[in-house]
Amino acid sequence: YKILFNDAVAMTGGQAHDGPLSVQAITHEMKAEGAAKIVVVSADPSKFDKSQFAAGTDLYHRDQLMTVQKELEATPGVTILIYEQTCATELRRRRKRGSAEDPSKRAYINDRICEGCGDCGMASNCLSVQPLETELGRKRVIDQSACNKDFSCVKGFCPSFVTIEGGEMAKGKGVEIADELFARLPQPKVASTDGVFGALVCGIGGTGVVTISSLMGDAAQSEGKASQVLDLTGMAQKFGAVYCHLKIGDSVNHLNATRLSTGKANLLIGADIVTSASNEGLSRLRQGVTRAVVNEHETVTGAFTRDGDFHIPVDDMRKALQRFTGAGNAHFFDSTEVAEALTGDTIGANIMLLGYACQMGWLPVRLESLEAAIERNGVAVAYNLRAFKLGRLMAHDASQIESLMEQSFATPEWHQLSESVDQLIERRGRDLVSYQNQAYADGYLKLVERVRKAETAIKADSNELTEAVARNLYKLMAYKDEYEVARLYTDGTWLAAVERQFKGDFKLKFHMAPPLISKRDPDTGRLQKREFGPWMYRALKLLSRFKGLRGTRLDPFGYSEERRQERALIGKYQQRIEQLIAGLSADNLATARDIASVPEQIRGFGHVKERNLALAQERWTLLQERFDNPARRIQSVQVMEPEKVA
Ligand code: SF4
Repeated sequence: YKILFNDAVAMTGGQAHDGPLSVQAITHEMKAEGAAKIVVVSADPSKFDKSQFAAGTDLYHRDQLMTVQKELEATPGVTILIYEQTCATELRRRRKRGSAEDPSKRAYINDRICEGCGDCGMASNCLSVQPLETELGRKRVIDQSACNKDFSCVKGFCPSFVTIEGGEMAKGKGVEIADELFARLPQPKVASTDGVFGALVCGIGGTGVVTISSLMGDAAQSEGKASQVLDLTGMAQKFGAVYCHLKIGDSVNHLNATRLSTGKANLLIGADIVTSASNEGLSRLRQGVTRAVVNEHETVTGAFTRDGDFHIPVDDMRKALQRFTGAGNAHFFDSTEVAEALTGDTIGANIMLLGYACQMGWLPVRLESLEAAIERNGVAVAYNLRAFKLGRLMAHDASQIESLMEQSFATPEWHQLSESVDQLIERRGRDLVSYQNQAYADGYLKLVERVRKAETAIKADSNELTEAVARNLYKLMAYKDEYEVARLYTDGTWLAAVERQFKGDFKLKFHMAPPLISKRDPDTGRLQKREFGPWMYRALKLLSRFKGLRGTRLDPFGYSEERRQERALIGKYQQRIEQLIAGLSADNLATARDIASVPEQIRGFGHVKERNLALAQERWTLLQERFDNPARRIQSVQVMEPEKVA
């Protein structure tokens, strides 16, 4: 049996349980019931005194959970595993209130090294590990505002993770916003309640959704109006869907059922587009009546932790919201991105939407009442007022927000997407010079150019194959061995990005599994990651200077199976591309592009990469068969024609 002890009664918003229930008491009770074996697994075993457990109880760190489970599986009789870890949401609350320690430590991903394999999402099941779209594909970034400091993502098998200890998050990224910019904003109109005004606030738990409806309710009451709110907070968990039904009336006599009925929302504040476009959200909207402001940021759902390529159909959701509200009534902007760029924290995203709705004149309360409610709320008042004003500015003149964002920070080079295939090739060629040398880059450029000639010869305006080869040949050639990881940590760009986000006296700890010095897990045989102190930065800096040894007989890392495979893969890919060039026709161009694109699946490091490579090989075999025998494919399509089936 597994007993999960999370320090609160489930689904009650963190209520403590009655009676003297404790992990220690449970071990004694289980012993008295006759359990053959009892094991306690904890996120922090040091807080327990084993002598207080029932005799024979073992205690382990949660990292050993799989080993413990295997042992228990092989143990005859009734076995009990007590898993102790405080509920993540409750822990956050306690940290906010200062009743639990908030570790001065943060996980951070070097996105240049990240391969987007998704192993960290699988290891942590955490939605604070967010997708980051870059020129080199989809990577990962930790949403520092939402991070629970659980650090299980760090176990993702790659060298991209560092933990930053000490220091503090830099706010605002250096954007000075003059007060007169806000002072020039026109006084917004106040919407009529017309008896009862219904507002729906939708979003994700743990991001301050409930605060938005309570601020509106408080502002209304301060004006002598009546308000009532129903917060549907799902499973009361972080990242669960939250729907707040708010009614504001001229008097209590206008308020009856708390929940908004179908089509009764005058306003939608959509803090998250997925919950806004859900059945619960859409059903409250009325065409021509509801006004909506929606954060179109792609906040991933649980599916992303299992499928790293998962995309939210944002366009379809936007269309649905436009259809349900009527032409011009739904407004969208990425308030998460604006909040992060201009306030240094994504937590301001929702209050920005409130400011937007206020400035549009969509709220039945005065501006001054809302500002006073923010002050009465008493949490991060200056910050929230600033985010609120930024939302107002967005509604009044979006171009001013855009220009502020341009000033906020220079977008890192690889976060900017190439605007043409030529640019894409040129950037990668340039990077391969830094990776190895000019001759290495020339080899890349030459093959890409040959592909371009072959492609334009059969279809003048086509570049899909050229682009696929340019992206994928680069990916294979710039494989991330020890020298490259060292370069990507120490060439100055990564450290500059860290220093923009963190200030004060902080230490960097690196989490890696260098094959030459790492131990293997006795159960899985996989290399185990270890933490290395700040000295590792200097070691990496030194190592990066030896990239000239890469692939030579003097390369101590080059003999490993993984490195051999990476080098062999480049040669095989080049041969494959030569074959494609030789047999290219207008009919098989799309298949050739698919063959050339397969390496984008070969993501990750070590055993993760190995697994992905095996899948890629299968796909190559399938596609090559299609390329070599197009007739066979046509035959199979013919079988599916309806008249033949009939
Ligand atoms: S390489 Fe994989 S495990 Fe590492 S940060 Fe990127 S997605 Fe996560």
